[in-house]
Amino acid sequence: MVVPYTHEPFTDFTVEENRKEMEAALKLVSGELGKEYPLIIGGERVMTDDKFVSENPANHKEVVGYVSKATREHAEKAHRIADETFETWKKWKVESRANVLFRASAMIRRRKHEFSAYLVYEAGKPWKEADADTAEAIDFLEYYARQILRLKDGMPINSRDIEDNQFRYIPLGVGVTISPWNFAFAIMAGTVVGPMVAGNTILLKPASTTPVIAYKFMEVLEEAGMPAGVVNYIPGSGSEIGDFLVDHPRTRFVNFTGSRDVGVRIYERAAKVQEGQKWLKRVIAEMGGKDTIVVDKDSDLELAAEAIVMSAFGFSGQKCSACSRAVIHEDVYDEVLERSVEKTKELTVGATFNDNSNFMGPVNDKAAFDKVMKYVEIGKEEGRLMTGGEGDASEGYFVQPTIVADVDPKARLMQEEIFGPVVAFTKAKDFDHALEIANNTDYGLTGAVISNNRARLEQAREDFHVGNLYFNRGCTAAIVGYQPFGGFNMSGTDSKAGGPDYLLHFLQPKTVTDQF
Ligand code: GLU
Repeated sequence: MVVPYTHEPFTDFTVEENRKEMEAALKLVSGELGKEYPLIIGGERVMTDDKFVSENPANHKEVVGYVSKATREHAEKAHRIADETFETWKKWKVESRANVLFRASAMIRRRKHEFSAYLVYEAGKPWKEADADTAEAIDFLEYYARQILRLKDGMPINSRDIEDNQFRYIPLGVGVTISPWNFAFAIMAGTVVGPMVAGNTILLKPASTTPVIAYKFMEVLEEAGMPAGVVNYIPGSGSEIGDFLVDHPRTRFVNFTGSRDVGVRIYERAAKVQEGQKWLKRVIAEMGGKDTIVVDKDSDLELAAEAIVMSAFGFSGQKCSACSRAVIHEDVYDEVLERSVEKTKELTVGATFNDNSNFMGPVNDKAAFDKVMKYVEIGKEEGRLMTGGEGDASEGYFVQPTIVADVDPKARLMQEEIFGPVVAFTKAKDFDHALEIANNTDYGLTGAVISNNRARLEQAREDFHVGNLYFNRGCTAAIVGYQPFGGFNMSGTDSKAGGPDYLLHFLQPKTVTDQF
């Protein structure tokens, strides 16, 4: 028996002691920068000559780590080992598998700020965002360990008096986890340990800009008692090993979080049955979002502005849950816009590894910087630039938080995922019109409604077609086990990370009838 799950609390860095601990962790990590990291295949360290250079996005001259790059031969070897290891790992007692996660969670909790410090250096996160990322990683471990205990005996079914019927879940086989850089710890860890605790073995291909935090996590899993070969760490390029792993006939499922383009590509490729393949692969994909906050005319306008600004610019808008569209009732449009602009002008942008005062750090890398700046230019043509619009990539990839007003609901700025600190405002005639605009994208991930009118909230509950809908708050910051996370339409495969049915994606039900 385990105590009921509650989420990991966040750290208050205004408390002197916490601030000092985080500073000490940053110092510790700064002394570890620039190391070389091997692949981990069947527990064995394999150092390659060709390496990813993981940079600090706030200071791109600083190298966080040089990380080995897997070739197809490495990927093939890792696949074979994962396949062999599956035969023993699947037979482990469920409790013992869950205990690996519980131990790993305790170990991370003990060194919490150290992991957050890695996220500050490698992902450019402000402390608060780094702390939330680490807390979420802990939550995934704690939550999925409990979920597998709940599922271990299967589900009750009927038996007649001549038989004993059983309905149990068994794991699938070898899975490929392809994880993103934006929640470089939480999503990476969650998309590994969910299928792993369910009894599958994993090939982990972390994002190429944040592979070091994934390596640190591998060390924890090993220390927590994970047998060699259960999770294999193989960073590599999409063209060298990404397609290869997805296409591999022994791949049983792919657990992907990242862009829509890559997600669609994986889905299509995985659908093709390869020679020697004995199953239909499963794909669990979490892709993009184009998330809207709707502001009703009867609403708390200060709350509305706060929700928009925090959801749009937290971690520089690099969340698939980020608010990138504000749809506002025409009666309150000017006021909400003005308040949002005012609040945005107060936000500071800069490095966070030496300073906790900046609200926003950098964007992920040069490609992200260029993409966001391209959309800023598009925004200037499609609407009225109210604030922001500037970027500076000389030291780190910094972009000012940007608001563009009076954008047509069908304009590119309102339809395409930017994944940066840019939010477009548009005016709605009434609440029905606002919901119509909110639903007019290809995506369906998060959304929020700010209103004091209960009837309109209830209308949105039915008609606002997103996987995660929030009333009178922002549209980011879902918590494992409290707000299971995942979206509709082109946002993914409608699965819910941190939800009560998540592990079923990595299990298959087996019915056994014993007649006597
Ligand atoms: N779960 C995160 C949130 O609710 C977003 C995850 C993502 O960006 O992929 O803000």
